[in-house]
Amino acid sequence: MKAARNLVQRLQPQAITSPDDLLETGLIPPDHLAAITEASATLPVSITSHIAKLINSTSLDGPVAKQFVPTARENDKQVDELVDPIGDIPHSPVAGIIHRYPDRVLLTPVLTCPVYCRFCFRREAVGDGLLAAGELDAALAYIRDHTEIWEVILSGGDPLIMSPRRLAQIIDALDEIDHVSVIRIHTRVPVVDPKRVTTSLVTALKRKTPVFIVLHCNHADELVSEAEQAIATLVDHGFPMLSQSVLLKGINDDPEILAALMKKLVRSRVKPYYLHHGDKAQGTSHFRTTLAAGRAIVNRLRGRVSGLCQPTYMLDIPGGHGKVPAGSDYLQVTDGGDWMVTDWQDNTHKYRD
Ligand code: SF4
Repeated sequence: MKAARNLVQRLQPQAITSPDDLLETGLIPPDHLAAITEASATLPVSITSHIAKLINSTSLDGPVAKQFVPTARENDKQVDELVDPIGDIPHSPVAGIIHRYPDRVLLTPVLTCPVYCRFCFRREAVGDGLLAAGELDAALAYIRDHTEIWEVILSGGDPLIMSPRRLAQIIDALDEIDHVSVIRIHTRVPVVDPKRVTTSLVTALKRKTPVFIVLHCNHADELVSEAEQAIATLVDHGFPMLSQSVLLKGINDDPEILAALMKKLVRSRVKPYYLHHGDKAQGTSHFRTTLAAGRAIVNRLRGRVSGLCQPTYMLDIPGGHGKVPAGSDYLQVTDGGDWMVTDWQDNTHKYRD
């Protein structure tokens, strides 16, 4: 704890951006430096000053630190883990576009993030900066040419790390495309670097096309007052907000911890949307639960928290086949054609159509 306090005093407002910074600030012991330097060759290190402060005020081995401080375990790659776990590459017709489902595309104008989450499923892709101007034009032309695209999801990287001016240019360009009806932005910024949520940012996002904001947040400890204020700024300006979380072993794989997170999100006017099963990205097995454990956890959320607080537990099928809900089946058909329905207390009831 003492070392982390030094960290905040010495490095604010700069972020921690290298294994040497981690060592210097006492977040890793000296004998871990070589292994962590090896891990950071795949996924860089970045911890914002806001998150460093949060680690300092919670615990060096707590749920916030575990998400952002690398460990040697990232070098432990399992045989079934993949470089491109959800098959982005085969669905990328041009740079900056991932087109997996007919009516929506991912547009990834930036691959940089304010923090690098150690479980990131795009760990092999992120950290590489901006799309070149010509590439962005080609990506926008692709969206323009595909009239079936109804929704554009700005992802990355973290789109809200871009300057408001650049974001406004992209949203203005999407506004010009008649068939794009909705823009969705996936971001961690309100919880990892809340000071970026400024009036200029809001002005950049508030154009003609409705913008939904999906916040990536995994533990209630991330929702401190600065984060709640950033969220409130976005919601008060009319942006509907949803959340996505990743089920992470040792961080939030517990119904009580998830219930606290979901309730806090809803209190902040963020509707829990997805709880992702951990993807099989290389070097992330220490974060992954089994599917059976995940299903048991989400089962226990039912009845414990309101429907407003229920995310859908999702599995992204490895290889790029898309997402499917992975929660329990509450209805089973019997041989006689009736349904057996399981309630939230595990009692079964017959239902006849
Ligand atoms: S912010 Fe998103 S894209 Fe960036 S490292 Fe974290 S999970 Fe990956």
